[in-house]
Amino acid sequence: MSSATTPNTKELNNHVDDEQPTTRRIRHLSLHLNPPSTHNNQIELGACSSRAKVDVNAGQLSSYLRGKHRDVQERVFAYFNSRPDLQTPIEILKDDYRELCMRQLVGLVREAGIRPLGYVVEDPVKYFAIIEAVGSVDMSLGIKLGVQYSLWGGSVLNLGTKKHRDKYFEGIDNLEYLGCFAMTELHHGSNVQGIQTIATFDPVTDEFIITTPNDGAIKWWIGNAAVHGKFATVFAKLMLPEHDKNALSDMGVHAFIVPIRDLKTHKTLPGVEINDCGHKVGLNGVDNGALRFRDVRIPRENLLNRFGDVSRDGKYTSPLPTINKRFAATLGELVGGRVGLAYSSVGVLKIAATIAIRYSLLRQQFGPPKQPEISILDYQSQQHKLMPMLASTYAFHFATVHLIEKYAQMKKTHDEQLVADVHALSAGLKSYVTSYTAKSLSICREACGGHGYAAVNRFGSLRNDHDIFQTFEGDNTVLLQQVAGDLLKQYQEKFRGGTIAATWSYLRESMNTYLSQPNPVTARWEGEDHLRDPKFQLDAFRYRTSRLLQSAAVRLRKHTKTLGSFGAWNRCLNHLLTLAESHIETVILENFIEAIKRCPDANSRAALKLVCDLYALNLIWSDIGTYRNVDYVAPNKAKAIHKLADYLSFQVKNIAKELVDAFDLPDHVTRAPIGKQSPGEAYAEYTQFVGF
Ligand SMILES: Cc1cc2nc3c(=O)[nH]c(=O)nc-3n(C[C@H](O)[C@H](O)[C@H](O)COP(=O)(O)OP(=O)(O)OC[C@H]3O[C@@H](n4cnc5c(N)ncnc54)[C@H](O)[C@@H]3O)c2cc1C
Repeated sequence: MSSATTPNTKELNNHVDDEQPTTRRIRHLSLHLNPPSTHNNQIELGACSSRAKVDVNAGQLSSYLRGKHRDVQERVFAYFNSRPDLQTPIEILKDDYRELCMRQLVGLVREAGIRPLGYVVEDPVKYFAIIEAVGSVDMSLGIKLGVQYSLWGGSVLNLGTKKHRDKYFEGIDNLEYLGCFAMTELHHGSNVQGIQTIATFDPVTDEFIITTPNDGAIKWWIGNAAVHGKFATVFAKLMLPEHDKNALSDMGVHAFIVPIRDLKTHKTLPGVEINDCGHKVGLNGVDNGALRFRDVRIPRENLLNRFGDVSRDGKYTSPLPTINKRFAATLGELVGGRVGLAYSSVGVLKIAATIAIRYSLLRQQFGPPKQPEISILDYQSQQHKLMPMLASTYAFHFATVHLIEKYAQMKKTHDEQLVADVHALSAGLKSYVTSYTAKSLSICREACGGHGYAAVNRFGSLRNDHDIFQTFEGDNTVLLQQVAGDLLKQYQEKFRGGTIAATWSYLRESMNTYLSQPNPVTARWEGEDHLRDPKFQLDAFRYRTSRLLQSAAVRLRKHTKTLGSFGAWNRCLNHLLTLAESHIETVILENFIEAIKRCPDANSRAALKLVCDLYALNLIWSDIGTYRNVDYVAPNKAKAIHKLADYLSFQVKNIAKELVDAFDLPDHVTRAPIGKQSPGEAYAEYTQFVGF
């Protein structure tokens, strides 16, 4: 059967209902004998479909991967390379590290001339490029920079109005006004609406009074607070005196600029109590502190008043009608920090994968009898540990680039659909990517054996510093629930007929496919061309998400009757988290496939296709039980997927060196002797480091 006459899955499903049983049987048999080999949106497989090694040029692939702001990243790398005194040593005490981190930041801004604040609003893609590069040099520095510019600076610019920008912009940008972002309290982290700090308006003096009403409301974990901060954006419940009544109205959580240290003397200001959160598991270059406010008075103008304002006579006005809407708008403006973390987490994964893979190519252990030892990356088990990880790194690269571009577009247009889309996408990618990177860092350490345990080879600090990425800027488990909630909202409100936000639009079609049951014929196809067809891969991912979505909706409906909505949600929680992850994996795959189509160089395209196939088939295989349970995949096909995923790991291994070289990370950034670009230098530098 020629490809022109081959029906695709959708056509097959459309016809199924109208057919006579005999016709159906004949059609099934004929398809079984002649499975279609091409589909409408099939990517040209090129060299990939053959069993020859893909010929990839790291330089060309790298120029495709490099963002348009690579130049600023190179400036960051070059600056720190030229200042060995500013590089973080392997052993350093907490207090020294904090001072070094401060000097690194000052050097970057005042000496290297990199001024990030303008980009936070006007060119976020450039800002994220800076954050990623700085985080690659030192993660504490990346976070300190993020606290200053995304959190403190971002809150002033995004939640405040022109008067705040005019007053604070220059000081924040040049680091004179070092600041904090004080949201979390001892008793409330994820549940921001539960915070208890209050800001009461005093109409007599035209001031707000900031108060910590009990120990549970002490602001906790606040970056820059323990040592360096002069100001804090403090999140507190705004309390307004009611007219003619001796009572206060709670207007919900608002943000206020509160000076915490004297600008000249750096002494803690009256009414403010600051303590140090102390030594942490990682990120010890950042000075996290705890803040208590004893009726600290600030002028009325210090309310960041974009979404709600108080007039001189104590009247409240807001462009938004309810407390919930104002709260959502306030948190929505802070999504940039989450976007930056997702993007930077991929940067960390690139470093770890680069070190582990270069070392695995160099390291030799055992071999066939009387023959030279082989590289540890030649072991199937090592490939299994590292090649799907390398594939995921590529997949996440394209997905997070897509996210930062969408975020930049959102900042320009303020389009409502885009705001909702970026909110869910950033929550999903931040949680998925940071969890994956955290697990991978341990795998990389273990994959490098004992030498992976030497601090000089970086896995320890990368793992410790990155670990908290899973928690701050929104705990991953909590964020995934927001994604699941959004999916269900789309499903319930808009699935039949209404508009579905871009990121979810695939669900409409795949839900129809899901509801019409898996196709028993395609469930058996096991040819390589079919398994490597992006249509098969995407259909499989989408099918799984649709199935999880449909079943979650049914279960929630059922349990709500007896447990109420909160109880039902909790009863289905693991199911909902799986649904969110499945959706994010689908979005990541879609982006990878699109990125391959856009790649101008044929060899790079072939390499990326190979990597993408490994990413997709490895994930399908990881969840093969789900596909088998519903006969989406027959036993023969499951076996073929497993075999092909292993084979693709082997193929990717053959170009692994070029694939990590294409990340374009100089040795002075990876900084691990065992991960040197030139393998000849690795052992030499390592032995030298130990003192030989
Ligand atoms: C190094 C560091 C720096 C920080 N910097 C700042 C800063 O500068 N400014 C600031 O304001 N904050 C900062 N934070 C605080 C950080 O944002 C919070 O730790 C984070 O929001 C999580 O809150 P929590 O620690 O209270 O965890 P909790 O919310 O108590 O979560 C604890 C556990 O409970 C689970 N859990 C909670 N709710 C649910 C739920 N609904 N469903 C299922 N599971 C749930 C979570 O998954 C988690 O495993 C920082 C924290 C650290 C450690």
